[in-house]
Amino acid sequence: MKKTWFKRALAALCALTCAVSLAGCGSSQSDGKIRIGIKFDQPGLGFKKSGTYVGFDVDVAKYIAKKLGYTEDEIVWKEAPSKQREAMLQNGDVDFIIATYSITDERKKVVDFAGPYFVAGQDLLVRKGDTSVRGPEDLNGKRLCSVTGSTSAVTVKEKFANEVQLMEQPGYAECATALFSGIVDAVTTDDIILAGLASASRGRLEVVGKPFTQEYYGVGVKKGSNDLKKKINAAITDMEKDGSWKRALADNTKGTNYTPNPKYNPPVPNGKGNK
Ligand code: GLU
Repeated sequence: MKKTWFKRALAALCALTCAVSLAGCGSSQSDGKIRIGIKFDQPGLGFKKSGTYVGFDVDVAKYIAKKLGYTEDEIVWKEAPSKQREAMLQNGDVDFIIATYSITDERKKVVDFAGPYFVAGQDLLVRKGDTSVRGPEDLNGKRLCSVTGSTSAVTVKEKFANEVQLMEQPGYAECATALFSGIVDAVTTDDIILAGLASASRGRLEVVGKPFTQEYYGVGVKKGSNDLKKKINAAITDMEKDGSWKRALADNTKGTNYTPNPKYNPPVPNGKGNK
């Protein structure tokens, strides 16, 4: 009796797995494509714009994919929201993730990282002309918005837990909307993300410009993907050497007033931030 039930369940599970892999949702590369996780809603980094994908992370991803032997048509872009990145890698939904993804010891317990390929810093975004928040020292009693599953939200909970109210959203675009409407006083995450949002707001929002962390952006891969990691690190090194990295960064931050911190950029893949 028990066995029959178990067998039936197993058969159903098999059927489901087959259906899923036939639909192309299963493990990677069976169809000659590479699946890359990016953000879809972060202007300047990973942004979906009428069916195309643009931003610095997208350019880094394309460069790496090319070095791995894939043309742009062979890239399948998948949305990788902050909270879902580790699970997407663990499940094999994507081959790698380039999505403003900070390398941390906590994340390294479940996934591996190539890189770093960029270093940002956590900062604050406020309504233009609001002088009440000029830096992290002004946060007492303020309402902040950040994203679930991000290091930015973790940092707020660690550093400012007693002084601020934190609202968490699935993405930074939702936080920007909350800031426009006055539901929160500031949005907090990496300066380069905030610069893109400020620029997209056409002058209604501004970055405070006092970063208080270092965020080493890595390329997330499934744990144990040593060969892939090596190839990605080699591609990042090439991109930094041949001028493409600098060009991609300049193109994607044009008109935002953002300058990457030269003390940390460009970082050495497999070096500081990912030892
Ligand atoms: N770099 C931070 C992180 O990896 C914040 C940006 C994001 O949520 O993607 O969590």
